[in-house]
Amino acid sequence: MNLYNETKSILKKYNITANKKLGQNFLIQDEIVQDIIQASNVNKNDLIIEIGPGLGTLTKELLQSAGKVICIEIDTRMIQILNDRFKIYNNFELINKDVLKVNLKNLIKQEQKDNILNVKIVANLPYYITTPIIMKLLEEKLEIDNITVMVQKEVADRLVDVPGGKNSGAITYAINYYTKPEKIIDVPNTSFLPIPEVNSSVIKLKVLQKPSVQVQDEKLLFKIIKTAFMQKRKTLLNGLTNGGIGKKNSIEEMLINLGFDTNIRAERLSLDDFARICDYIETGKY
Ligand code: SAM
Repeated sequence: MNLYNETKSILKKYNITANKKLGQNFLIQDEIVQDIIQASNVNKNDLIIEIGPGLGTLTKELLQSAGKVICIEIDTRMIQILNDRFKIYNNFELINKDVLKVNLKNLIKQEQKDNILNVKIVANLPYYITTPIIMKLLEEKLEIDNITVMVQKEVADRLVDVPGGKNSGAITYAINYYTKPEKIIDVPNTSFLPIPEVNSSVIKLKVLQKPSVQVQDEKLLFKIIKTAFMQKRKTLLNGLTNGGIGKKNSIEEMLINLGFDTNIRAERLSLDDFARICDYIETGKY
């Protein structure tokens, strides 16, 4: 049975329909499932954490290739389906919770007590909380190898852009701080049931052992970047002043001392440029 028919038949058997509010668009293209598994480079030494398994399309393949698969699914209706389908696998575990409320650090620590497994995140993410999920995975500094996920194409383009690129925003800098991002493949909306309004892309975020730039105060770095991008149309000088980072004349002096044009806009700065601004402020030269 192809994936489209299999998906239809599971929905019919359990008499359920997709819940739009939970971002339920089920993947129905076999090739894309394989692309995701390959991109993540899933193997028997891996602990895969799958976020939002839904009916279990990706899960089925992951269970064959990975050492262990832990699925985190918020929708209770999916729990019976997933248990019915996969309870025969001894490398399958299911958590019925909102992923944003799961203590992933503890979960990973627990799993690694006995076995040293390489941890990877795989998911066709619910679109309504893509960014909070990705930021949680990165900000909690989990010991993970990579995050291979399906996201809305527009979001993917922002996440994988280079800082300062035409699609970049504050989050692009955060992604490039923690990871090496890569687009794997664009996925048309017809690859899902029901068909969403937008197209998608699979991206892979290879998590760096240490951040790509070193700063004295990470929180301050992201505060500065967020403030600068909140007022993207303004000059960096006005953006940082209006956003309360400092007094106009001090910021102007700092920009001059660091060798920036005082009319420069946020999107012209590299991550390294923001790191220099951050350390300048932190060391009190400012
Ligand atoms: N993995 C399945 C697939 O590829 O066909 C389903 C993907 S669907 C785009 C997103 C899944 O995430 C749904 O099963 C939905 O119920 C689940 N989900 C939504 N919000 C969630 C949350 N906060 N925590 C965990 N799972 C969530």
